[in-house]
Amino acid sequence: MAKNIVIIGSTGSIGKSTLDVFDKVLKDYTLLGISANENVEELKKQIKKYSPKYAAIMDKTKEKELKDATHGTKILSGYQGLAQLASLKEADIVLISVVGAVGLIPLMAAIKAGKRIALANKESLIIAGDVVKAAVEKYGAEIIPVDSEHSAIFQCLHGNKKEQVKRLIITASGGAFKNHTLAQLKKVTVTQALNHPTWKMGKKITVDSGTLMNKGLEVIEAHYLFDMPYEKISVVIHPQSIVHSMVEYVDGAVIAQLSNPDMRLAILYALTYPDRRTGVIPPLDLVKTRTLEFCEVDLEKYKAFALAIKAGKEGGSMPACMNAANEIAVKNFIEGKIPFIKIAEYVEKVMKKHVKIKTPTLEDILKIDLKVRHITQELING
Ligand code: MG
Repeated sequence: MAKNIVIIGSTGSIGKSTLDVFDKVLKDYTLLGISANENVEELKKQIKKYSPKYAAIMDKTKEKELKDATHGTKILSGYQGLAQLASLKEADIVLISVVGAVGLIPLMAAIKAGKRIALANKESLIIAGDVVKAAVEKYGAEIIPVDSEHSAIFQCLHGNKKEQVKRLIITASGGAFKNHTLAQLKKVTVTQALNHPTWKMGKKITVDSGTLMNKGLEVIEAHYLFDMPYEKISVVIHPQSIVHSMVEYVDGAVIAQLSNPDMRLAILYALTYPDRRTGVIPPLDLVKTRTLEFCEVDLEKYKAFALAIKAGKEGGSMPACMNAANEIAVKNFIEGKIPFIKIAEYVEKVMKKHVKIKTPTLEDILKIDLKVRHITQELING
């Protein structure tokens, strides 16, 4: 069935992959709206190519430039613009693929409008999982995961009884440094950290994959998306990134979802669910793959992973604190200001200082997010 789609974050890695899926197999869909953070050049190109009815730019200072360069497309801007775009009456599916805590604003707007949401932004669920869950229920919205692991679990749960799930098994590639020792990790460069062995992704998530913070965030994400206690979520390292995650049932059956590592499959499924379409990713050749390996996560080496799980289990405002500290630490690492190994150290320091709020409101969370960013940056500046 043809649908109107909105992409919040169309110039990023997931956004571009979504447009590729759109070009290849969703010709019957309409691209209703797109948005960018600040990449006005790319957004202009996309507007020219797709002539969407709406486009939004987060950076308000670039609104005029965008307006002058386009016609026929209504231009929105700032947080408010993103929220407007996410709640358009004509929209059937809103894909949210912006990176970081900022995703919470369009997410809440889409939820309040009762939309089907294809969610690629994990940070919003991490920092405000309880608030998001309550709102989804209240407004009758629907979240379809786009993160490859959660898309896999979503598919493995399909047609089965949730109360008969024994545990979710999330796979992790191990990132760029899976063969590094703790000593070698101390010398990691930015270029090395941005070079992921199996997945092509944005900068922040690629660094998070290296520290395995990304996997910790995904455990929290799974906890909220599938309403699963932390005791029932485990993680295994799987370097080939072919098995995207699994669900174990009470009878001992383990159902896995496999494919070539390509984000476009999870994007496609989220946009066509419960239907499937052909023609986006190449078929999986298991004979060529030959080996599928699995091993345990080294908690000493991947300190950031352990910290994320700790924050998730503590709950309240702790995940929001952990996430904000990590976003700032990663940003400083990418800018060459702190070594790779220090990312987790800063996150830990900031978490130790945080006075947890047990049941934070959305306003509390946004305040904590800002405050922790500031505190983390000050700590890094020394
Ligand atoms: Mg993932």
